Amino acid sequence: MKNTLSHSEAATVFNKDVKRVDWHDETLWFVREKRDKAAHQIPEWELLRETASQIKNNVLSNISDYLLEFESNALKNGIVIHWAADGDEHNKIIHSILEKHGVKQMVKSKSMLTEECDLNDYLSKKGIDVIDTDLGERIVQLRNEPPSHIVLPAIHLKKEDVSDTFHQYLGTEKGNNDPKYLTEAARLHLRDTFLTRKVALTGVNFAIAETGEIVVCTNEGNADMGVHLADVHIACMGFEKIIPLRKHLSVFLRLLARSATGQPITTFSSHFKKPREGQEMHIVIVDNGRSTQLGREDFRNSLKCIRCAACMNTCPVYRRSGGHSYHTAVAGPIGSILAPNLNMSKNADLPFASTLCGSCTNVCPVKIDIHDQLYKWRQVLVKEGYTTKSKTISMKVMASVLGNSKIFSLAGKAGRFFIKHLPFVVSNSLNPWYKQREMPAPPEESFREWYKKNGKEFKENNNE
Ligand code: SF4
Repeated sequence: MKNTLSHSEAATVFNKDVKRVDWHDETLWFVREKRDKAAHQIPEWELLRETASQIKNNVLSNISDYLLEFESNALKNGIVIHWAADGDEHNKIIHSILEKHGVKQMVKSKSMLTEECDLNDYLSKKGIDVIDTDLGERIVQLRNEPPSHIVLPAIHLKKEDVSDTFHQYLGTEKGNNDPKYLTEAARLHLRDTFLTRKVALTGVNFAIAETGEIVVCTNEGNADMGVHLADVHIACMGFEKIIPLRKHLSVFLRLLARSATGQPITTFSSHFKKPREGQEMHIVIVDNGRSTQLGREDFRNSLKCIRCAACMNTCPVYRRSGGHSYHTAVAGPIGSILAPNLNMSKNADLPFASTLCGSCTNVCPVKIDIHDQLYKWRQVLVKEGYTTKSKTISMKVMASVLGNSKIFSLAGKAGRFFIKHLPFVVSNSLNPWYKQREMPAPPEESFREWYKKNGKEFKENNNE
């Protein structure tokens, strides 16, 4: 089920369960700490980040050349290449491949692009049964929920929730929360699926222009299992997944797993270069707004993203509001700078779901200036009139207060008076700021007033 609430509304719902919020916060912080340990063990970490960033800069400046090089090499390898302008075209291409083979069932490993394009919904309406084989993705699929995190799709769920879900859909013992038992049940359930599906869809972590091959990183081996048992392999990629040379993997693979989970490398980094004998292999290269983002000078860097999720794990807002509150396929700080490009009106709330603390930028392995872009999106959205009326009016009022020293000092006086004598004027249900905060007692005077009286003496005493 898709969330139709704004970020703050959905976060309010998530925040009602205080214990779960604390647990979610701590769990993601634990992943962030693992990332820190892994990064600190590599003396050249900052050099790696800089190199990755520069490689991606080069890719973004020459993307059409690299894509054509990739296409030509992939064709030589015997892969069928498709180009999709948007999500709809992407879905139609995949459906046409399935139709050609008369297939009504497919296994799919993790692909955030297919989430972005709503592929599962599209195919289900056409009578196609898609089974997600990543364990976290399968759990949320059974619950009819979207993933809440790009690396850990079911991170919002506790083992008790998974146990209930498996009991309901897979018939496991009620109340058995043993992770080993639950994983075994999922393994048995998926094994039969793997053995009977003729088509396997995977995402793409890296597409190498030099060789025309793709690399898929997983920890469960589910992508490999699906592909090796299927007659047809379909791989879907946003066009920014291109890297020029195979040797560049030595930079990106070292950064990706460490940034994502603190592992030195993902358990499987599988290269798919050509279809095995008798197999068919398709790659669908998707634009879906990426060209527009590439043309936005302030935001094009967002296309460097390698989807490690480090920015989510560190973000204090993400950790305490949950991935579903972002109502987009990619949540968290990176989602909030990608989503407005796709639909400004629908996603105008997201760049405001940030403290702008900059922690996302600090951990990003490809050095995307995430918090700067969040700030810039705010300016674009306000200017283009996409923010709510109340926000637009309050921002205008604040601008006139902060832009005029006389009004500023008058407003300060009024504020101090009301907080002290008529607190209900500011502390009421119309003021969301007060809902979760206790204000300190107001001072008797402002700093300016104090300085006027005491500044001279203060300076003398401090030899200024
Ligand atoms: S923006 Fe950076 S930190 Fe966030 S998911 Fe992408 S690569 Fe990782």
